[in-house]
Amino acid sequence: MDGLPPDAADLELPAETMRAMLDAVAGRVLAHLASLADQPARGELAGAAERSRALREPPPEEPASLESLLEPLFAEWIPASFTTPGPGYLAYIPGGGLFPAALADLIQATTNRYTGVWQAAPLLCQLEANALDWLRALLGLPEGARGIFTTGGSTANGNAILCAREALLGPALRDGVLYTSSQVHHSVLKAARHVGVLPDRVRVLPVDEAFRLVPAALRRAVREDRARGLRPFLLVSSAGTTNTGAIDPLEELGRLCREEGLWHHVDGAYGACFQLCEELRPALAGLAGADSLTLDPHKGLFLPYGTGALLVRDGACLRAVHGASAGYLPDAAEADLYDPSQLSPDLSRGFPGLRVWLCLKLFGLRRFRAALLEKHTLARAAARRLAALEGFELVGGEPALSLFAFQLGWPGASLAERSAATRELLARVNARGRVMLTGCVVDDGRFLGRVCVLSFRTRRERVEECLAALAEESRALLAQPPRR
Ligand SMILES: *Cc1c(COP(=O)(O)O)cnc(C)c1O
Repeated sequence: MDGLPPDAADLELPAETMRAMLDAVAGRVLAHLASLADQPARGELAGAAERSRALREPPPEEPASLESLLEPLFAEWIPASFTTPGPGYLAYIPGGGLFPAALADLIQATTNRYTGVWQAAPLLCQLEANALDWLRALLGLPEGARGIFTTGGSTANGNAILCAREALLGPALRDGVLYTSSQVHHSVLKAARHVGVLPDRVRVLPVDEAFRLVPAALRRAVREDRARGLRPFLLVSSAGTTNTGAIDPLEELGRLCREEGLWHHVDGAYGACFQLCEELRPALAGLAGADSLTLDPHKGLFLPYGTGALLVRDGACLRAVHGASAGYLPDAAEADLYDPSQLSPDLSRGFPGLRVWLCLKLFGLRRFRAALLEKHTLARAAARRLAALEGFELVGGEPALSLFAFQLGWPGASLAERSAATRELLARVNARGRVMLTGCVVDDGRFLGRVCVLSFRTRRERVEECLAALAEESRALLAQPPRR
């Protein structure tokens, strides 16, 4: 390391060294951001397995210079990846990377205050509590609801299942049955297993042609399980599925859950943040009636990866699951104050709230609403135009939020031929390097193409490029369709 102090045990760095390091990183980062729009939408991944193995090395006993580490990081390793923060990333559910979040991370890592227990940093805990309470209010949950930040939607879903389990099953864990649809995010099935709801107590219900859970099927399944002596306790529905963006009929499902005494968890990791837009609230009707709700600020609020959130209607449930004391710890904070380790699984932790707080304050909600509405408008217009092109069919209808699925085909094409043509189309469009699209396989084995507009950097021009690429490549493909 440049400027290493003569006393090797002293890990503190001189101020001028730190400033030089900040400058070096700032230069790299700003150059990287400036080039994002021209970077290939999907980096060069050929030979990635060999290259990964070639990176293995013994632990570094001796110091290295920052420059010798930054150079390969930015020149070789970062480029060998999906360009997730770029405007062409329309794959999976795009993330974000709002710049001020990086400043918050720098501040939290350098000040390194302890936000695990309220007593150690009460005002910082309150900033995080504010951010959580803003999310609660924006999503329409009542004041008694409380939230936690998690590393992502997956752990938020896990904590929701824990709350439902604790509230409704207690020691009768093994009898509890969880219901969800075939389109649910796989993290729910994984989380169920983590918290002791084993696969034989999970009912994956079929969906309708728009990929939505069918309430009548839920009611039937619940009754059947009751007749078997089991205890139905939880429905996990989706506010925007990862495959096609489908929104389950949340209002009707919520009613049904109340009638049947089920906890209603809504997985809104993709879709919940669209509730910020008044125009989109009808599509999400019933969302605010959830007993618990997952949202992912690293998707719908454009933050960098590492920030999910869970809101729970009866805030006491979080404490029931996570509250704990120890002889060496201070007493828990008074009930109205936010004491993170009493409500969430971590003790020592980062300070995830600072990213959210800083970004919401700096930009203001109006700009988030405008950005979300723009993504919706772009996706909707793109879907309509694609549907008007020869050979394209929207599958699951127009986008309720900002994600839609499609298939390419021709009259008389079989299901397998349509799937193969759609796969080939995505491969050709992706090979152009301007956008990255991914597909999904749905219940009947069909492969669908998808477009998800959620990166804050995806603006109209890039969506136009995507449409042009789909139009040109589909024409070429239909002229000589791949048969299978
Ligand atoms: C992304 C996503 C998840 C998982 O969230 P992570 O933040 O990736 O852990 C869960 N559910 C849905 C609907 C998602 O889109």
